[in-house]
Amino acid sequence: MSGTASSPRTTPRTVLISGASIAGPALAYWLHRYGFAVTVVERAPELRTGGYKVDIRGAAVEVAERMGILKDIQRASTDMQTGAYVNDEGRRIATLPADIFGARVGRDDEIMRGELARILYDRTRADVEYVFGDSITSITPIAPLAPTTSITSITGRADDHHGSTEAAADGVEVTFERGAPRRFDLVVGADGLHSTVRRLTFGPEEQFVRHLGAYISAFSMPNELGLHREELYHAVPGKLICAYSSAGDPAAKGLLVFRSPRLTYDHRDTAQQLALVEKAFDGIGTESSAAGGWREVPRLLEAAHKASDFYFDGMQLIEMDRWSRGRVVLLGDAAHCASPASGQGTGMALVGAYVLAGELAAAGGEPEQAFARYEEQMRGYAEVNHALARKFAQEMTVDTRRQIRFRHLMMRILPHMPWKNLVAKKIAEDVQRGAHAITLKDYPVPGRAARPAPAAARPAYAA
Ligand SMILES: Cc1cc2nc3c(=O)[nH]c(=O)nc-3n(C[C@H](O)[C@H](O)[C@H](O)COP(=O)(O)OP(=O)(O)OC[C@H]3O[C@@H](n4cnc5c(N)ncnc54)[C@H](O)[C@@H]3O)c2cc1C
Repeated sequence: MSGTASSPRTTPRTVLISGASIAGPALAYWLHRYGFAVTVVERAPELRTGGYKVDIRGAAVEVAERMGILKDIQRASTDMQTGAYVNDEGRRIATLPADIFGARVGRDDEIMRGELARILYDRTRADVEYVFGDSITSITPIAPLAPTTSITSITGRADDHHGSTEAAADGVEVTFERGAPRRFDLVVGADGLHSTVRRLTFGPEEQFVRHLGAYISAFSMPNELGLHREELYHAVPGKLICAYSSAGDPAAKGLLVFRSPRLTYDHRDTAQQLALVEKAFDGIGTESSAAGGWREVPRLLEAAHKASDFYFDGMQLIEMDRWSRGRVVLLGDAAHCASPASGQGTGMALVGAYVLAGELAAAGGEPEQAFARYEEQMRGYAEVNHALARKFAQEMTVDTRRQIRFRHLMMRILPHMPWKNLVAKKIAEDVQRGAHAITLKDYPVPGRAARPAPAAARPAYAA
């Protein structure tokens, strides 16, 4: 096999990453620095810039700093100032500082998902091959000593827990919907909650999904409410409605959340998803509605229909006992989606990319050891944040008008209480525990003076 101690490798290892959102480009950044040759394939015809605002907290802040993008993130910060609950007429009935709403402390920040995707893409586009408008259709290990076996055909084999047979393969052959087949040393699935790489390698998505009982949609809309660095929330039983506008964005964003058991729909069919949102919010906020609701809701629904960046998905966890098989590994939401309820999905994607690339470099590109160490470090962090997501998904919406009134009352009195800082600290505590639930190792980057590396680590391509 090429690249072992007995036969030093002279050409860089080639890595194919599926997905150009957060996890994929972040991994590409690190792998390039370690000397790998990286290709990223993205199904969308161009970088997708939609989505809600996302938090960068704890270990993710540290990773962003090590990547040299922390300042870019700070420059693009949403810089939200306040969050308020509004009544049916849109009058603010309880207002709090945005950082309390977002449970952010210290250097934690908030950025639009699309802005972060843009920062990562701009950082990597000159050094990494990006292929837009394509998708992987098959991944087959190339086994020089045995007949070639398709990974898809061995899915679920219990006797090959870490896929060591496939790891011994001399790379993988990948086919695409549009492009010609190509060979790579490794394939990474950073293609999100509905990962194609996961399906091809581990089988159907259903076996790994835990539905948290709610759906969420996000979209751009005209800023007719005249919002400026402010977010407005409105609750009706089983639903949450939000509108906000962040720094530097002339438009506003709408967000609609509703409780529901698992729904059957095509996750690539926007018209079907819009119909589900429409049905869930039907009549809310209209003059004739007995249920009442914020008068803005019909306008939000109209904006959702017109938006070019409409996003819709279930609040779902991806729970897997392992994230790799042979020369294929999952990263970010594809491996351990924690749902928007956790507020940590983007941070985990950044941290996971750092750890995976570092372990690959330390193992000289050999997948078996690198993937095992990556999982070892990331598992506890993912589990803590999954627990957070289960808790927050329950609390995001409330079931009765009485509970809503109680929540408003609490928010109204909080700013006037002498112990308000203690309460804010308590609210942030859980989130902070999740954000810091990993200790980052130092990995030596070629050409840069490294902090002392762990004993097991060795420079990339030392082999
Ligand atoms: C457009 C968009 C909007 C989002 N909006 C929100 C939001 O409002 N709130 C929130 O909490 N989270 C949102 N997310 C999810 C959030 O970005 C992730 O939870 C988190 O950042 C982890 O990122 P990720 O890179 O692992 O996965 P994702 O951000 O989900 O990225 C996966 C990427 O893979 C691509 N992809 C999917 N299938 C294939 C395929 N077969 N071949 C190639 N590429 C493929 C997708 O187009 C996407 O670019 C959104 C994601 C996207 C793509």
